[in-house]
Amino acid sequence: MSEIIKTEAVVLRKLNYGDTSSIVSLYTLDFGKISAIIKGGRNPKSKMGMIADPPNHLEIILYKKVTREVQFLSASEIISHFPHLKENLNSLKFAYAVVELVQKLSPEDEPNKRIFNGIIRILSLFNSSDEKPEIIFSRFTLFFIEESGYGINLDKCSVCGTTELDKKILGYNLERGLLCEKCKREYIDNFKIEMELFNYLNCLKFNKQIKIINENTIKNAIDFFELYLKYHISDFKGIQSLKSY
Ligand SMILES: [Zn+2]
Repeated sequence: MSEIIKTEAVVLRKLNYGDTSSIVSLYTLDFGKISAIIKGGRNPKSKMGMIADPPNHLEIILYKKVTREVQFLSASEIISHFPHLKENLNSLKFAYAVVELVQKLSPEDEPNKRIFNGIIRILSLFNSSDEKPEIIFSRFTLFFIEESGYGINLDKCSVCGTTELDKKILGYNLERGLLCEKCKREYIDNFKIEMELFNYLNCLKFNKQIKIINENTIKNAIDFFELYLKYHISDFKGIQSLKSY
């Protein structure tokens, strides 16, 4: 038996299906990540097919059947298509990276309202804030890592427990965690964490304003997140949307 359900969704990915239809991956408010088919979605006259593009925010009506892997999308209306975001190629690239991360790393059918609201908030920031898209993306990534249960500890050295971490070059050991200057000599540091990067990560984590920041530090943080996610999630191979940069 199928149920008719109305919910909100963010479009994560759209693929062609057969000659005329599309299959979309959606992050929904009430069911988490699901797949849905849009019959005739590739027809240029299909309004549903047209608006079901990443990273649009939609209100949708589904025929949902628990035993079915792919649900039927029966109607949808746009809530926001983030028009300013799409005018800026760099914003668009990082917004695609956000939905790609959610698509690749979220389990099916596990609703999480905080993640749903986090996605909408971050897409709205790309759309309206003056902050660099790279930084907005990094704010989301750290939030998403925490929400997914892989939180990065930045409070103390994971070996000796010291919290005196300022004015030093720290390290990160993927198995153990953060390393202080001293413990860095005894354990392999898979990633070097200079003070500017450490302070930047803390600003992202506690959602503080970021004023002046070196381009390299922003890039290092993204490389660090990718390395961290690859280590913790074995089938994650990196963020394809960012490969062009
Ligand atoms: Zn230590």
